Formats: sequence, C-alpha cells, structure tokens
Amino acid sequence: MKNTVQRFLFEFSDIRGEIVSLDSSWESVLTRRDYPPSVRKLLGEITAATTLLSATIKFDGTLSIQFKGQSALLLLLAETTGISSFRSTAKWRDNDELGDSNVNLLSQGTLAVTLTPKKSGQAYQGLVDVHSDSIQKSLEDYMQQSEQLTTRLWLASNDQKATGILLQKLPTERHEASDDWHRITTLAATVTNEELLTLDFETILKRLFHEETIRVFDENSVNFSCSCSENRTDGMLQSLGELEVRIILSEEGNVNITCEFCGKNYIYSPSGIDRIFSYESRESTQETNGSIN
Ligand SMILES: [Zn+2]
Repeated sequence: MKNTVQRFLFEFSDIRGEIVSLDSSWESVLTRRDYPPSVRKLLGEITAATTLLSATIKFDGTLSIQFKGQSALLLLLAETTGISSFRSTAKWRDNDELGDSNVNLLSQGTLAVTLTPKKSGQAYQGLVDVHSDSIQKSLEDYMQQSEQLTTRLWLASNDQKATGILLQKLPTERHEASDDWHRITTLAATVTNEELLTLDFETILKRLFHEETIRVFDENSVNFSCSCSENRTDGMLQSLGELEVRIILSEEGNVNITCEFCGKNYIYSPSGIDRIFSYESRESTQETNGSIN
C-alpha cells in the first residue's frame, strides 16, 4: 500500500508540486465510522489536501483544515502532525440533502486553516468564506487571499483512496514574465479523477508533464494516527468543569467519551471522575498535557 506524499519541482521554472496517495491509511479512517458517500468524498478530498499543504510548509506542529457548514454537512476536519501522520472526521445531519447531487453541501460554509506549533507559541488561524462547490477551489481561494500563494489543486477520493496533486508558484520574480504557470497548470488540469485514483505517481507525472523537466524528491510516508489519549480526555473533562461532569455521571452512571477521529471509547466510572477532579491529578495532567502539546 502506498500512503505517501512526494515532492517535485519543475526545473527552469519557479513552480513546485506535491502528489499524495492515501490508501490503507484512508481505509482505516473509513472503517471507524460509517460516512454517507457524499460526506466521504469531501472528507477524502480535504484529507488529501491537508497532507499536500502540510508537505509544502516547513512547520513543527499540527496543521488542520476545518470546514464548517450550514447544510446537512456540519463539519469536515482533517489534521496532520508533521508530514507523516494524519487523522480526519466529519459531522452531518441525516437528511435528504446528503444524497441529493444538486445540493452544494459546502454552500455558505467557512474554511479555516490552523497551524498549531508543537512547542510553545500561538496558534495561527486563517479563515475564508466558501463560494464554491469544491474543496479544491475553496482552498485555492484561501491560499491566494490569506497566504498570497498562487496554488492549484486537483483532488479525488473514493472508498479506497484519497489522493491529489498540488502546484504552487514560488514567490520569485522570474515567473512574472514567463508563461510557465499557465502552461503547466493547463497540462495538470487534464488529469482525470480516474487517473488520480488508479495510477501511480510516476505514470501520472509522465502522462501530464512528459515534455517538462521534473526533479522528483524522495517519497515520504503518511499514515493514519490518532493523538487522543486518556490524559487528553482527562483534561477535556476538567475544562468542562466538575459540576457539569457530575451531573452527567449522576444521569448516566458513568461518563462515556468516544473519540470522533478513531472511535476509541474512554469510560469513566465514579472513581475515575473522583480521580480527575482531585487536586493532585489536575496539577499532573496540566504538566503532562503541556509536554504533549
Ligand atoms: Zn482518537
């Protein structure tokens, strides 16, 4: 199985590219939740896009792309840590909109890109209104508006694969006078979903750019990995507040938390709740969370 992202450069022009293919790692996202096909398609695209963007920036921390919607689709969230691992999830309302191909599930939504440094420092978030029916167009708008980086994306996903190509103009002076960007993006735009979903990197790049000189870098592996932990769940309950948590406990008999990314269950009995609200536990959780984040 592939699960890799690969960087490439067009020699003699200031354009770089990334190509990603998530196979078994994408299937591990899908085995954890039963996503409606329309949600699954968009989630695959946003997941592929997150790994592509993450590969273009040198950043030690997490990068997430989050879509918040007004239709039946409420949330798409994909997150990468470094360039080697990702996780993703979605929320939706079960109704007819999900199966209606005439409904734009992205309509009137917003897209947020957040960079959270691994060590100390402030998270950075950029936001854009979605004026399109595609994840790729919305992200291209975001990159132009918030990052001043001219970027094109081609994304595709099905129940076995999430994949995509990114091209980006490097911020240099030379490209102003040349038609490289126009020529290369016109070539790339001929790629079909079928090609993205079935062919290997080498074949795709050869088919699209056989007359260009491309320098290809080593492949990096990308895998599904969830950063949830008992410690983080402790911290989440602590921030919810003891009173709130005790009310849930008295109604339910225990407190049951399911990770939305990996489906793992964290079950707290009354003694477990006592433990996280004891003074010593609060101190130690804060310290440990500090080092994980
Ligand atoms: Zn998890």
